[in-house]
Amino acid sequence: AAATPSSDRRGGRLVVLTGPTAVGKGTVEARLRADHPEVWVSVSATTRAPRPGERDGVNYWFMTDEEFLRRERDGLFLETAVVHGLAHYGTPLEPVLEHMRRGIPTILEIDLQGARRVKEKALALGLQVVYVFLAPPSFDDLATRLRKRGTETQDQMARRLETARVELAAESEFDVTIVNDDVSRAADALWSVIAQEYGLDRQD
Ligand code: 5GP
Repeated sequence: AAATPSSDRRGGRLVVLTGPTAVGKGTVEARLRADHPEVWVSVSATTRAPRPGERDGVNYWFMTDEEFLRRERDGLFLETAVVHGLAHYGTPLEPVLEHMRRGIPTILEIDLQGARRVKEKALALGLQVVYVFLAPPSFDDLATRLRKRGTETQDQMARRLETARVELAAESEFDVTIVNDDVSRAADALWSVIAQEYGLDRQD
């Protein structure tokens, strides 16, 4: 079994960034990474196809369903989820534990189901976690984002909006809420959480 980081913990808690679909988690995470290269953002495994410009091992570990399911069976993931009923996504466990052991600020950017899975497993793994919920300024803002993203039929869009409504209500399950009204501001707020956890300079 993997060693738990709690015994020789030097840094802060694992930071889990979660939130509704299309709220802009990936964009905020990219900004954080650009501003603060000292943070390490976990590279997820996925069975979806790479988009243009995405690289294996950088954006995701791209793999077949067979490979993903084998790794899942072997207990190699901290959490997994099927996102949009289409593709498998998962956080490889060992790299997370390794970065945390080394005291490196460690971030996961995952969907709500994944964040709930981490909650279920954290205690058994001896993982200390702070959960950050990225919220849209309003439901209408989220609806606009979903419409921009989707090439769906009206029926599919209606279902997505209903899901968004349910996902927004999940806010109370998590420790900290950051409103994504502006990407830089949201990334700064996320950095403040990390800086506080890891005793780093706030640069403000
Ligand atoms: P995309 O396919 O657009 O890159 O990501 C789709 C969704 O999957 C996003 O909401 C993203 O947060 C989520 N996601 C990415 N990696 C993981 C992961 O390892 N686990 C979980 N549960 N969700 C993930």
